[in-house]
Amino acid sequence: MQKAYLRDYSVTDFESTVVEIRGNAISLNKTFFYPGGGHQVNDTGFIFDDKGARKVTRVFEENGMVYHEVDSINGINIGDKFECRIDKARRKYLSSLHTAQHVISRIVFDKYKINTIRSEFDVNGGSIVFSSPLQLEWIDSITCDFDAVIKREYEIYNCIAGDIVTVSIGDNRGDFSEDDCCGTHLKNTSQLDNIFIIGFGRKNNILLYDVFGNYGSIKESLKDYYKIVNLLGQKKDVSTKISHIVNQYNSLERETQEMCKSAINAQLLGGKKIYEFSGYKAAFASLSDQESIAKIYKKNH
Ligand SMILES: [Zn+2]
Repeated sequence: MQKAYLRDYSVTDFESTVVEIRGNAISLNKTFFYPGGGHQVNDTGFIFDDKGARKVTRVFEENGMVYHEVDSINGINIGDKFECRIDKARRKYLSSLHTAQHVISRIVFDKYKINTIRSEFDVNGGSIVFSSPLQLEWIDSITCDFDAVIKREYEIYNCIAGDIVTVSIGDNRGDFSEDDCCGTHLKNTSQLDNIFIIGFGRKNNILLYDVFGNYGSIKESLKDYYKIVNLLGQKKDVSTKISHIVNQYNSLERETQEMCKSAINAQLLGGKKIYEFSGYKAAFASLSDQESIAKIYKKNH
């Protein structure tokens, strides 16, 4: 079993051969699919041959082997060759969150000597749990340092020694940071320019951040609430509760759009600091507003 993703996580299309079948999962002679772990969720994608495509719904590791669960196992035999395609958008999103975590954790440690306890990355965004609370005023400064790392265009690469994989960020090995890690990362810190530090989570030792674009939009997931409300139209108590959540969201969105508008106006009138971006509510802004604000915000630093 060759875990090819450790050597090159830029490969998302490859050919591979089935070496084991277990339940509805297959193992391949080499794979670039990330099996999850280190608080990063697994890749998904497709495998296909001339008979058609099958969805790879989950990838996991067990006893050193990587297994790919497929939506239909029927007709697959050991020795079969498949073209494999990883969901690029999902991979890029997760790699962006993961790489950003290394950078944010290093900045927070260097500036405030606060350690990262753990981090989580899934399709709803990233969060970092620190060993002690951060101050709201620090977020501006962390964002500013983060922008400097983007501009610095550091290379990001893996060093593999036996079972230990080290991710290094810098012009030379470990210039900026070096951590043991086997997740997937971007190639250069310049690719982090769409990362958005949202603000605190449930407590102020938890920092939330996200990427603009394909995944992670709270707005997208709330669309599902509308669908559920329609489906459950008859069951009053459930739909009332969901309607309440949707109404809360709508009023937050209206509030946030007002906030965004005044922030842009403040910026146009020469206001210098826009603390609202560090606030929790910014997460509820519509994507286009977030984007325009982020651009204006960045110009300022
Ligand atoms: Zn990592």
